[in-house]
Amino acid sequence: MTSTSPPRSASTARAARMPVVFVGHGNPMNAIEDNVWSRGFRELGRALPRPKAILAVSAHWYVDGTFTTGDVRPKTIHDFYGFPDELSRVQYPAPGDPELARRAVQLVGERRASLSTRWGLDHGIWSVLVHLRPAADVPVVQLSIDARLAPAEHLAIGRALAPLRDEGVLVLGSGNVVHNLRHAFGAWQQGETRTPDWAHELDQGVARALERHDVDHLARALATEAGHLSHPTPDHYLPLLYVAGASSSDDPVRFPIEGFDMASLSMRSVVLG
Ligand code: ZN
Repeated sequence: MTSTSPPRSASTARAARMPVVFVGHGNPMNAIEDNVWSRGFRELGRALPRPKAILAVSAHWYVDGTFTTGDVRPKTIHDFYGFPDELSRVQYPAPGDPELARRAVQLVGERRASLSTRWGLDHGIWSVLVHLRPAADVPVVQLSIDARLAPAEHLAIGRALAPLRDEGVLVLGSGNVVHNLRHAFGAWQQGETRTPDWAHELDQGVARALERHDVDHLARALATEAGHLSHPTPDHYLPLLYVAGASSSDDPVRFPIEGFDMASLSMRSVVLG
């Protein structure tokens, strides 16, 4: 008899449950710069358990439909303009996981979701993963955001994906809790560093709602005045709803990264579980 391998029991299965994570990715340059944000991503990566695979929801795959990337080797997509060549040369060679892509479609429902080989890994995901998992040794599947859906429907898809947490999969959302690029660039050009009240209001409201697991507040937040000012388009907010949907009310909540870049770009990251 040996006692080195623990018995399979409800408590060990519970212990193996993966957290869900939302990361504020911000400026694509964070991928190649050593700054307070990229160091935060690295620290977060070291604190997370090693997942079997990652199911990633990026603000930058915002289309008419729910798709999962079915590629065995997803390509690194450089979906931005006006950045240095060094950023366009970044590759994130993590393998895909077609089996996970099919499993996610099955969980969401085949009437709504399907596999796609027209995407890959966009910068919303790889600009963070180069720090979270620099070895690119965990398979990654992306899930698109259907631009036609209401906030409650994004939450519901997140809820449908929750069983993946017990299968060793990390559900990772990447966007920004506050993302008004017109304001952020204007502030940056003028050397303005003061964070406007509407940005604080949305960021704090979201943080407090996450702490009390109030997903309905999260779904409604875009429709407020602070929500409109913080998100002229909702794409960077919506990944948070997938993560919140996959969370449960007994998940511990922590914010490993907080603060604003370029005055109004919330860099808040959230770990639930
Ligand atoms: Zn972005």
